[in-house]
Amino acid sequence: MRLAEAVTAQTPLVQRLLDGVARIGADPPGITRDAYGPGENQAQALIAEAGQALGMQAGTDAGANLILTWPARDPSGPPILIGSHLDSVVQGGNFDGAAGVIAGIGAVAALRAAGIAPRRDIQVLALRCEEAVWFGLGLIGSRCLLGRLPPGALELRHARTGLTLAESIAACGGNPDRLRANTPLRDPRGMGAYLEAHIEQAPQLVEAGAPLAVCLANPGNLRHPFIRIAGEDAHTGLPHRFRRDAALAGADLSLALERLWLAEEAAGRPMAVTIGRFFTPTARHSLTAVSGGFEMSLDLRAYNAAHLAALEGELHRIVAEVAARRGVTIELGERSAAAPGPMDPALIEGLSAAAARCGQPAPRLNSPGSHDANNFAASGVPTGMLLVRNRNGSHNPFEAMDTPDLMAAIGVLADWIAGLSPAPG
Ligand SMILES: [Zn+2]
Repeated sequence: MRLAEAVTAQTPLVQRLLDGVARIGADPPGITRDAYGPGENQAQALIAEAGQALGMQAGTDAGANLILTWPARDPSGPPILIGSHLDSVVQGGNFDGAAGVIAGIGAVAALRAAGIAPRRDIQVLALRCEEAVWFGLGLIGSRCLLGRLPPGALELRHARTGLTLAESIAACGGNPDRLRANTPLRDPRGMGAYLEAHIEQAPQLVEAGAPLAVCLANPGNLRHPFIRIAGEDAHTGLPHRFRRDAALAGADLSLALERLWLAEEAAGRPMAVTIGRFFTPTARHSLTAVSGGFEMSLDLRAYNAAHLAALEGELHRIVAEVAARRGVTIELGERSAAAPGPMDPALIEGLSAAAARCGQPAPRLNSPGSHDANNFAASGVPTGMLLVRNRNGSHNPFEAMDTPDLMAAIGVLADWIAGLSPAPG
């Protein structure tokens, strides 16, 4: 069977797995598959069974990630990893994460049906707890695998069970003691490539009329969760020139950051600014007072480290300007940052060429969201991603990916694997 036909022939298997994980997570009107809990565990079991039915070997690691291996008879290089996650946010959609794991299974099934023996071990990874809702920290399975847990991570508590991450990992068969060393569970230099298919979290592919995109980079971020602005409480009759209005300073800061965003985009430097928390203190605010206090958060994202550093400089300049003009103090407070995840240039070319061979239009896009792929890229593993068309965004019950679009991505993955030359390492 030709590979393209073999891919199409896997549509019922892929649909059965998509429907299977949807049933496991059913939480009308959405989907909840709790990380390190029954939802994720049952989804892992379903995927393990599907992999074993294809002759793959199932194993887990100290982070309780599932690893399904299709061994090469005579490996010519390090394994090719295809991964994503099976957990969801609370009442999210069915496809964020799960579609990528199922794409790995679909690609292996198609290659087998086409009679193509891999020249490298092919491993499908179901990585644990990608979503930050469960422990206030995301990408946990890939962090465990690659030794990238931040200090104190194992003591974070699960939003539902209250168990620590260490206890949760142990309860799912992992080994938290091994993770305390925070060194990679496998040497990233022994990973030939990491590939991930993921639904797009924005409607750029809907707009473009294309089923999939080859990802250029995942964003890194700079976060200040608790920005505090201090001015002076005052009577509503106070003339403007005497005011030190913290609420308007918060508005100024936000709008200045939006102007920066639009100017950077216009100059061809993509980024995003999100003010998720934005309020006057509820214990004191009133209709009849100028607010002397204001709180907000900031998530600033961009696609390369130098740009992110330049934007942090701009942020500090804007903060100083707003503070001086409004007569307030602005404390940015706690700061966290995550490195951008640039995709491997050779994989961008290789996946684009595979898409062309499959007859699929595949624009090149930056990913709106961060993914497990960020950790692989940051650890030096050649990393590539396919974004799959999806309506209605993500992290909500209305995610809408059409199975034929996922089959297109599976076709590209399978074609790329089939084209691997025996030599490179
Ligand atoms: Zn995801």
